[in-house]
Amino acid sequence: MSQSVPSHHNIWSLRRVVLLVQAAGFFIILLAISTTVYSFIFSAERALWESRQSDFAITAARLVSNTLEQSQLFMDIINDLDHTAPNFTQVVSNIASRYETVQEVIVLDGNANILASFSTDAPVLSNLFTIRQSNWFLSTRGGENYLGNLQFSSQNIPYIILARPYQKVRGAIAVRLNMEILNQVVEDIRFGETGNAYLVNAEGQILAHSDFNIVERNTNIASRPEFQQAINQAELYFNADYFNFLDREVIGTSLKIEGTNWFIFSEVEQDEAYSTSANANLLLLGGFSALFILAIVGSGLFLQRLVFDRIAQLQSATQQVIAGDLTVQVPIVRMDEIGELATTFNTMTATLSKNTEELRHARDEALVAKEIAQENSRLKSEFLSTMSHELRTPLNAIEGFTGIMLSGMGVQLDAKAYSMVERIGTNSKRLVELVNAFLDISRIESGRMDLVNVPFSPAELAEKWRKQISVLAEQKGIMLTVNIDPALPEKLLGDDDALSKIGQNLLSNAIKFTESGRIVLEMKRDADEWHIIVSDTGIGIPPHARSYIFDEFRQVDGSSTRKYGGTGLGLAIVHKLVRLMNGTIRVDSELGVGSTFTITLPLKTAQTQSTTEAVGS
Ligand code: ADP
Repeated sequence: MSQSVPSHHNIWSLRRVVLLVQAAGFFIILLAISTTVYSFIFSAERALWESRQSDFAITAARLVSNTLEQSQLFMDIINDLDHTAPNFTQVVSNIASRYETVQEVIVLDGNANILASFSTDAPVLSNLFTIRQSNWFLSTRGGENYLGNLQFSSQNIPYIILARPYQKVRGAIAVRLNMEILNQVVEDIRFGETGNAYLVNAEGQILAHSDFNIVERNTNIASRPEFQQAINQAELYFNADYFNFLDREVIGTSLKIEGTNWFIFSEVEQDEAYSTSANANLLLLGGFSALFILAIVGSGLFLQRLVFDRIAQLQSATQQVIAGDLTVQVPIVRMDEIGELATTFNTMTATLSKNTEELRHARDEALVAKEIAQENSRLKSEFLSTMSHELRTPLNAIEGFTGIMLSGMGVQLDAKAYSMVERIGTNSKRLVELVNAFLDISRIESGRMDLVNVPFSPAELAEKWRKQISVLAEQKGIMLTVNIDPALPEKLLGDDDALSKIGQNLLSNAIKFTESGRIVLEMKRDADEWHIIVSDTGIGIPPHARSYIFDEFRQVDGSSTRKYGGTGLGLAIVHKLVRLMNGTIRVDSELGVGSTFTITLPLKTAQTQSTTEAVGS
């Protein structure tokens, strides 16, 4: 008996499915946690940079506008001075020297004549040839204040020119301001590694930059989007993510400086700005992976002990049961579902083992009973056979003597006595037939009928049967035909006596149940089998009777004994012999048309015999 137990190496084993589902669960949870943490750190970091940069921009803008405001204040003071005072120039110089950023100051009357001038270096404003054409002078003529563009001296020092009308004489006050303060603003207040600031005017020209080369090169960023953004903003603007004019990816802030049309930009490269987030990301990734592996391994081990090991125990116990060991018991670790299953399993094996023991006992008893029954049956058959044998002797004597009496030898019988003796003779013949049939049946049943395996000629056998039956056939006027298949070997191996019993029984039945027509005896080969076929044109056998005519003492109808004679044992003997020869018998019949009995037997010749022996040995 082969049992197939599903292998636990199956790809989609329970363990694999559970671990996969778990892994997916852990993955999702950890991913969610780390994404949240990361985005939190990221936004916190961005907020930090935003506030740092904004602080810086505001401070820088204030510094610049303070400088400008102070200069305005300075000019207001000069405006209040009276130019006719004897030491006017001296006073102007004194005040101017107190302002660090004032490099040069000039006071003009309405005709552009210099009323006072002061300069810490080579004068620029007091060039008499250019004053009348200069923008600042023209602006003040119109009564307006003037704020010039940033310019650079021959020493590369940035300056601007501021001017206002000198109201007392409808003249002008102009100052040249040292704007190195701007460089200080962008240079001093640095932040981080890549933090950077620059000042841009309304035309997009960079006025100050921590890298002075950029200023020197007259860099203009008017066309850049970040500049467009800045000039369109009313207040401080934070730009989270852009490429600046140096093609660096930065975050930055821009702010318009009050009192001017300048903008201060502060920028830091994103790599630096988000370095904490990036580190956090790496850390999270590492931690995440470690946690993930730990969780999988840990829960895998846990499940292994809690579930899979115990299932494996149950499984191997089941295998042991299949292999026949019913004493197996599974240890109960915990009283959970698997524990309950194990308990049930243990109860099951215990019950099975008890039941099997009982069954074994019952089987032993049945075996003993069967042996006794077999012995009884053998004794019965033996008794039957002995009895039949013993009956034959006196019966033969009766038959012999009635024969003698009827032949008229020794005694003279009158007609009445003759008829009585004749009836004694008929009945004793029937009795002898019966006893012979009994003897055959009991021999077969008790297993004492040993079939021999000798060579015989089927054709000769058929001829022998034909001769025996031909007298009867002639008497009844029935045609008797014998057909032997030429394909049938000349010699077969078998028990010709037993075969004769079969053939004679079938032929005598055919004669007995046929009134007119013909009887055919056929022997035919069919591959490694051969057939004995006896067909007649007799009364036929009704369908319901075809199953029981092979039983002992069974006839189609009980009254036929009276009409046709016979014992009801012939077909039973035929059937038993055919079975003993490993053959089969079948009957085809139609009422009133005839019957055909077909015997099929294995074809045994000297050759097949030696081959099977060779195979067998
Ligand atoms: P019997 O001694 O009565 O012939 P058998 O066992 O030989 O006993 O046959 C049993 C019964 O089967 C017969 O009584 C008969 O009714 C039926 N039978 C057997 N052979 C034929 C046949 N060739 N034609 C019709 N009936 C048959």
